[in-house]
Amino acid sequence: MPGFEVFGEEERKAINEIFEINGGIIFAHSFDAMRKGVYRVREFEAAFAKRMDIKYAQAVSSGSTALKTALKALGIKRGDEVITTAFTFVATVEAILECGARPVIVDINETLNISPECFEDAISSKTRAVIPVHMMGVSAQMDEIMYIAKRNNLKVLEDTAQGLGGTYKGRTLGTIGDMGAFSLDAGKTIITGEGGMVITSDQDLYIRARSYHDHGHEYSSTVGRGAEAALITGFNYRMTELQGAIGIVQLGKLDMILARQRENKKKLKGAISDLPIKFRTITDESGDLGDTIVFFLDTREQAAKFVTKMAELGLGTKNLPDAIRWHFAKHWKHMFEEYNFYSDSYQIEWSKSADLLERAIALPVMVKMEDSRIFEIADKIRKIHKEL
Ligand SMILES: *Cc1c(COP(=O)(O)O)cnc(C)c1O
Repeated sequence: MPGFEVFGEEERKAINEIFEINGGIIFAHSFDAMRKGVYRVREFEAAFAKRMDIKYAQAVSSGSTALKTALKALGIKRGDEVITTAFTFVATVEAILECGARPVIVDINETLNISPECFEDAISSKTRAVIPVHMMGVSAQMDEIMYIAKRNNLKVLEDTAQGLGGTYKGRTLGTIGDMGAFSLDAGKTIITGEGGMVITSDQDLYIRARSYHDHGHEYSSTVGRGAEAALITGFNYRMTELQGAIGIVQLGKLDMILARQRENKKKLKGAISDLPIKFRTITDESGDLGDTIVFFLDTREQAAKFVTKMAELGLGTKNLPDAIRWHFAKHWKHMFEEYNFYSDSYQIEWSKSADLLERAIALPVMVKMEDSRIFEIADKIRKIHKEL
């Protein structure tokens, strides 16, 4: 997840321009006379929508608020149930709770994304939506998910925080469901410090998302902000011009980032592919972002030993297992107790996910990785496996 690897001079220039051109207006709205026609957030939204090949994009303050804004646009409210996966960043479930709805958390399969069968089994009369999460650059099984969702009249929100720029059967991730939510935080594929994006092809959903993220503002073309009507009850999840300016520059680097990651992943995976380890199942290889290589050991004990040896040789992992605590529902006691769901069962739920995740090791693939470094990592992995 490498936006931070290619962050520097161009981004600095874009920030400086805000001061040089329009006197430092960093609010995305109003100040019309002072800002000399510069609206970086709007430009970023337009560029993002174009790159994603979708009609509407709404910039927001984070990936977490993108998820909440999308759920609000979709009409999720108290008493509703929203299904999602046991393997995701904690924010997916927080966003559901923020809407007053009940998260229904289901197992993953060998793709490490939501199991379509488990999704279908979890549907109740209260279910309104599903949030598939494209984890670590690999798409969820969207054909199956869309089919089940349609038959049950459910909305689909793609959590594309870790899938920015990926595709599934030729379609850009985030554009397949009713809405897509992206994160631009410091660890993601492109970064704006903090930031997020909500996309949709549906005009009504877009208007609701735009309105919700900004106190319900109607975004009138005839009256100023102060005189605008409120369409719905909202909140403030606005993006600033600083983030917009950075986002435009980072978006311009996206295709380079993807190309390099994919090339490096191919090399590194190729160099360890003859080892008797099982790799994660990849739904659509050509659409993979290429930022992670996941493989499974036979047992949890072996995986623990493997990671200890990796650390000894100076190799790190990406979330699995180092930050599993933030990405696997089994560890979210704080939430279950505070909101009283799964509070009696979380230790025994999601055993299939636990079996997969606790045997999994995720290697980060960087944009900037010399061949010598790639082969050094591969050699170390081979050595550790031999000694296991
Ligand atoms: C990063 C992330 C989020 C939250 O994004 P922030 O911008 O950090 O709020 C949500 N879902 C997933 C899967 C993520 O990886």
